[in-house]
Amino acid sequence: MNGINSPVEKINFNGFELYVKRDDLLSHDFSGNKARKFLYFLEHDFSKVKKLVSYGSAQANSLYSLAVLAQQKRWQLDFYVNHIASYLKNSPVGNYKAALNLGANIIEKKGDMPIHDYVLQCIDTTDETLLFLEEGGRVKEAQYGIKKLALEIIQWAKDKEIENLEVMLPSGTGTTALFLQKYLPFRVLTCPCVGDVNYLMSQFRHLEPNLQKYPTVLVPKKKYHFGKLYTEFYELYKTLKKQTHIEFELLYDPLGFLTLQEHLKNKKEQSVTLYIHQGGVLGNPSMCERYERKISF
Ligand SMILES: *Cc1c(COP(=O)(O)O)cnc(C)c1O
Repeated sequence: MNGINSPVEKINFNGFELYVKRDDLLSHDFSGNKARKFLYFLEHDFSKVKKLVSYGSAQANSLYSLAVLAQQKRWQLDFYVNHIASYLKNSPVGNYKAALNLGANIIEKKGDMPIHDYVLQCIDTTDETLLFLEEGGRVKEAQYGIKKLALEIIQWAKDKEIENLEVMLPSGTGTTALFLQKYLPFRVLTCPCVGDVNYLMSQFRHLEPNLQKYPTVLVPKKKYHFGKLYTEFYELYKTLKKQTHIEFELLYDPLGFLTLQEHLKNKKEQSVTLYIHQGGVLGNPSMCERYERKISF
């Protein structure tokens, strides 16, 4: 990933003026959230390692990013999944297809053991030629790349003479929001897209039990299930595209902007808002197709 330092753009969203940090533009192959989280592994020497092992959903952004990482490091990638839908097997798309093209070994779990335990049972954790990563890059090493993101934001705010900044990004595991808050002198806002507020807080404490300041968790008005289709998500995605000419993704960003909008409506203090575009748009064509099919019924 050459010249890490993504651009920042000013946007107007439903009457609110804010900035977007375009981490989706970091590089063609290795971009967004996962590029930041896996940068440590890209830039450090792992001379003994021959194989990378992780797990998650067959459509996960991390699957593709890990496949790119493995290719660059000349490692084999074994990626375990709970299930691969038959339509996906028959006509691969998105992250799944791109990872297969890079030679990833995508392995379906057998039996009904939780996937994490299943993977640990399949591999020899004492094997030094094998590097095991928790789902979605929920690892301490992720802070290496996220700290770089924080430093870019600090420099940008300094150049712009912005003193009161809030940084918003939607969370999955919360790893990115947590480490951003660790290295930023500004308030980090986030919202839970996977699980609820309690899950997110427990993730924060698991990774950093003794942090002075945790990210501020904005609570969505409604409960949404990760990966499910919601008409308001698709509408928001299209609104954003029209108003900003930026392609956002469809799993995290719609909830990110919905909760951010509520926050901006109620906000009293003067501050500038910076939203982090965390990439993930490779999954959009299949998500859009699912939405179009849903709408046509
Ligand atoms: C993985 C991912 C997230 C969630 O990041 P966490 O660090 O797990 O909170 C958000 N947005 C996109 C596009 C992602 O790929």
